[in-house]
Amino acid sequence: MIQDQLFSEMRDETVFELSKKYGLEYVEEIFERKVFPDKKALDGLSVFEEPLQENFCTSAEILDKLHKYGAPASVAQLGGRYFGFVDGSVVPAGLAARLLSDFWDQNTAMYAMSPVASKLEEVVESWLRELFGLPESTKAGFVSGSSMATFCGLAAARYRILERKNWDVNKKGLHGAPRIRLVTGDQVHATVIKAAALLGFGTDNIEFVETDEQGRIIPEKIPGLDENTILVLQAGNVNTGSFDDFKTICRTFGPGGPWIHIDGAFGLPCGAVKELRHLTEGIELADSWSFDGHKTLNTPYDNGIILCRDGEALVGALRMSGAYIRRSEQRDGILYTPAMSRRARIIELWATLKSLGREGLSEMIYGMHQQAKQFARELKAAHFEIPNEVHFNQILVFYQDSETTMAILKKIQELGVCWCGNTKWKGKDVIRISVCSWATTGRDISLSVASFIEAREIILNDE
Ligand SMILES: *Cc1c(COP(=O)(O)O)cnc(C)c1O
Repeated sequence: MIQDQLFSEMRDETVFELSKKYGLEYVEEIFERKVFPDKKALDGLSVFEEPLQENFCTSAEILDKLHKYGAPASVAQLGGRYFGFVDGSVVPAGLAARLLSDFWDQNTAMYAMSPVASKLEEVVESWLRELFGLPESTKAGFVSGSSMATFCGLAAARYRILERKNWDVNKKGLHGAPRIRLVTGDQVHATVIKAAALLGFGTDNIEFVETDEQGRIIPEKIPGLDENTILVLQAGNVNTGSFDDFKTICRTFGPGGPWIHIDGAFGLPCGAVKELRHLTEGIELADSWSFDGHKTLNTPYDNGIILCRDGEALVGALRMSGAYIRRSEQRDGILYTPAMSRRARIIELWATLKSLGREGLSEMIYGMHQQAKQFARELKAAHFEIPNEVHFNQILVFYQDSETTMAILKKIQELGVCWCGNTKWKGKDVIRISVCSWATTGRDISLSVASFIEAREIILNDE
């Protein structure tokens, strides 16, 4: 009987010991392993191509298969030389707390479902308010990432702007609704555009503002804005890492003006760092802020946060009701997120912040900046071109022309010492480096730079 088999495994220490053993073996090698799986590892994935079998398969067999064929085909994101996209590592406490709380299998929709998750959401909400100096009224929703967090922020904005015009968007929808303008920089992240599309703003209707050579909105180019407008700013351009001039822009439009949303996916945490706080100066004047736990904060995937000054607007936009939805006096997470059932990702976020403390958090984030500067310095010394200023943790790299640059990148990826991706910047193909792991050391940077140089030599000799 399947139930007997399941009971037996649930109490079988060897099952969970095995997953821990394999996990620790992974950790043992991941900091030095080739950063991207090699061909053998990728070919090995074909073992998963099988029909679903008829009968019970033991957990041991499943874990063996994952360890043997899955782990080698993973990218070494946990390590210190993965600089792809803006993908963070994970601090031990976040990982360990996740393993523990996985046993609890909590649903965080309501207090009635998980008092512990509800409490931790409340605690972290107040920690975040304080870390970033945000107003007391600010409410947090804990979602899967910045995509969803931005969606929530824009939904709250849409709800409030229309509500002020006596238009309940939840009931009446958008057909015939008063018009809302959406204004943002021409360097806005694709996920903001996606959120705008999902919310019915229509991407053709977005008013794009010109940006400068670092991708920052040029404040003087922002058109006149009124209270029926949403202005989306950026704390951390995904290519250059630049920050919009919040101080000037937020002060200019001030309270009573447009709803200002800040996409701070990986850059918002700079607001908690003394040495980097100048980058986020003025953000406290905005209305909503979205950012990720899984990027520079180094929580496990997936983890995103929406913070909203007008907590009632957030709830107004996202609430749902139903006969069995029992609201309590306590925090019910369902009010602040689009989902009903949600895993307790708050536990990992709480554990990560609790583990680092204010000083540790600050040191980790500032460390990313210092290492990015080292990276850029060493690459420049080796005659690579760095087209951006290193504002925070992002570095763009160019050599000779787009074609040569991309050939070098392909070689870097093959060598496997580090991994970076590419992007387009001002019409050129460039390599993009993102430093966002607690585990990156000065040695990792130097080894990576050496790999850039080696890759370039191979490419130039081939020509
Ligand atoms: C990564 C990123 C996003 C999207 O975040 P997800 O967590 O992947 O949904 C949005 N904006 C910026 C600036 C980003 O870097």
